[in-house]
Amino acid sequence: METGPAIEIRGLTKTYGAIRALDSASLRVERGSIFGLVGPNGAGKTTLIKALCGVLRPDSGEALVLGADSRAGRHELRPRLGYMPQTPSLYEDLSPMENLHFFGGASGLEGLAGHVRESLEFVRLWDRRDDPIHTFSGGMRQRASLACALLGDPELLILDEPTAGVDPTLRQSFWDHFRFLCGQGRTIFLSTNQMEEAVRCDRVAVILRGRILVSDTPGAIEGRGRAVVTILLAGGASEQHETSDYERELPRLLKAHGLEQGVEGIRVERQGFEDVILSLIQEAE
Ligand code: ATP
Repeated sequence: METGPAIEIRGLTKTYGAIRALDSASLRVERGSIFGLVGPNGAGKTTLIKALCGVLRPDSGEALVLGADSRAGRHELRPRLGYMPQTPSLYEDLSPMENLHFFGGASGLEGLAGHVRESLEFVRLWDRRDDPIHTFSGGMRQRASLACALLGDPELLILDEPTAGVDPTLRQSFWDHFRFLCGQGRTIFLSTNQMEEAVRCDRVAVILRGRILVSDTPGAIEGRGRAVVTILLAGGASEQHETSDYERELPRLLKAHGLEQGVEGIRVERQGFEDVILSLIQEAE
């Protein structure tokens, strides 16, 4: 049984001319967890994911995946990794069945027919297994692409916006399956633009212009939020205080009004997870 993190990147940098797609990015992802990478368009999510899959050579820094260098060890890592690219890279004229047989065969997967059926049933494409991909909707292509990544039950799934274009019911079943896989000791690294998904991850990293702004649990990130405390005073008046630590601030505010009298009510409005992330991004911009 291997120990150590599933992913460890240190000081990863990649530039395209004047663009710093990755700027000394460092991260650690524990095995058996779901890790979400969040950031606006062009933040560097796909670049980071490509570096993890060994398909992109960084300028500097290192990316260790399942204990091996992601680029030097990419051929050995291939059967242990399931990669779902942002744009499905399936053969358009082939059916999902043929695509999965092709990709599964290329990685030398044993018991391929059973794995193909299992994956296609999970993404609910078994009934459409023989139709060419070019006849599929965007969400169905995503599902076929996920089926390809799931093939062979890999130790680590690297998914670039896996639920983009997927309807809410199926998205829920994807998440149920991610949690199930996680419970089996699999590790899932995914990127997303959707906060309601990010909050479901065990840990979240926010990336902007290639820099990791924060990497923590959703609860801890939300805990960085600010709160607005409104004190409702006798006679209909009120006053507002913005604070990042209202639990400590509240007694002080109440004392200023005399603890027993004068204050008729208190309203605390805390920033939610999404607001905290947006504030972090705005402050860094
Ligand atoms: P999105 O959410 O829109 O998919 P992203 O966070 O995945 O965005 P990346 O695709 O990693 O962003 O791009 C990061 C930056 O690197 C962008 O400014 C992008 O234009 C640039 N970039 C990425 N690939 C290349 C390339 N092959 N050549 C030039 N610039 C690139």
